[in-house]
Amino acid sequence: MNYENTKEFAEKMDGRDPLKSFRAQFLFPQINGSDAIYFCGNSLGLQPVTVRDAIQQELDDWAQYGVHGHLQAKNPWYSYHEMFAGPLSRLVGAKPSEVVAMNGLTVNLHLLLMSFYRPNGKRHKIVCEKRAFPSDQYALESQVRYHGFDPSTAIVEVGPRPGNDMILTEDILETIDSGKEEIALVLLGGVNYYTGQCFEMEKITAKAQKLGIPIGFDLAHAVGNIELKLHDWGVDFGAWCSYKYLNSGAGSVAGAYVHERHFANPDLPRLAGWWGHDKEERFLMEPGFKPIPSAEAWQLSNAPIFSMAPHKAALDIFEEAGMEKLCAKRDLLTGYLEYIINEADMGMKIITPSDSNHRGCQLSVLTGENGKSIHDELTRKGVVSDWRNPNVIRVAPVPLYNSFSDVYQFGQILQGTGQ
Ligand SMILES: *Cc1c(COP(=O)(O)O)cnc(C)c1O
Repeated sequence: MNYENTKEFAEKMDGRDPLKSFRAQFLFPQINGSDAIYFCGNSLGLQPVTVRDAIQQELDDWAQYGVHGHLQAKNPWYSYHEMFAGPLSRLVGAKPSEVVAMNGLTVNLHLLLMSFYRPNGKRHKIVCEKRAFPSDQYALESQVRYHGFDPSTAIVEVGPRPGNDMILTEDILETIDSGKEEIALVLLGGVNYYTGQCFEMEKITAKAQKLGIPIGFDLAHAVGNIELKLHDWGVDFGAWCSYKYLNSGAGSVAGAYVHERHFANPDLPRLAGWWGHDKEERFLMEPGFKPIPSAEAWQLSNAPIFSMAPHKAALDIFEEAGMEKLCAKRDLLTGYLEYIINEADMGMKIITPSDSNHRGCQLSVLTGENGKSIHDELTRKGVVSDWRNPNVIRVAPVPLYNSFSDVYQFGQILQGTGQ
């Protein structure tokens, strides 16, 4: 694509954008009297306009039916979570039985680690990426300690080679290969939150599978951002949150995936609750946990309707747009932002891979010494992006609601900073 740093070019691209109508389905924060240039969907996606009615519906049904809302609400609460099997399975490339909406992301990671991190003597190490999201680091550390091991030796981090930003797939594969006698689990982010690098999940999974090592992905920055084929790749488990690219609201209900080959394994340990129990027998209220033969077996509690309502409204929009179109626009839009940042010539360095096969829509920009003040100025001038210490600005043009004109205007504001 031959990009141009002009308003006309951006408007021409917007005119041709098959997804352009989706922008109107979201509420943009107002800054200085107009829509913010919102490049923070990697952290908190915008509110779909349909969310208010979706929540109101549940309030009305609760008021009208009380406890009978479990079966009589427009979307009965008893089976509410089942509405997510279809949309989530399409988003992550799984079978409907392999996904479930429940809890928060870190909670789901712990529940899945209870099943899939099963250290045994020498074989107790976990391979993860360097600079994993802190919550993931804490989750792994605490799991390792819980099993009586020392995180400083049990957690093996793969980082970039000196002087590089990107972690090479071959280095991840080599780490797994050379440690195969000692590794009990591989857990990586699908897309690293800090650099925006997307890992080659298919290749890495194939390696782990070949060596009989369970592998899972934290898909917080991948779901709704890149195309996933968890089932076909053979990934054992995955978890994600719904408030970033999935636009379901702060702290909204998260998701989990488990490959179907694990459903029939009676030896798989898990923490159980009544919502994971066989549906036919749940209300017999009898002892003896009988897991549902699906990812639902990992559910503990009944469904949080007031976070599932926005989640449902938000996923309906993804169903309408389709990941294929979103990814096509994502590559054009992110490529344009990359071009615009380089054009602005502010002495910044993009540390996200420039190959679109190795990134989603987020670009992480390494700034000079005045980075924080540039970021603050961008904020004052209507740009919503985020700052990560010590010196990175993360900007994510989200294909569902951002435009080429947003990117162009961002460039104009960026060029005007520090003057
Ligand atoms: C956003 C994010 C989290 C947040 O965890 P919560 O349990 O939703 O608070 C965890 N891990 C990663 C990789 C993230 O990007």
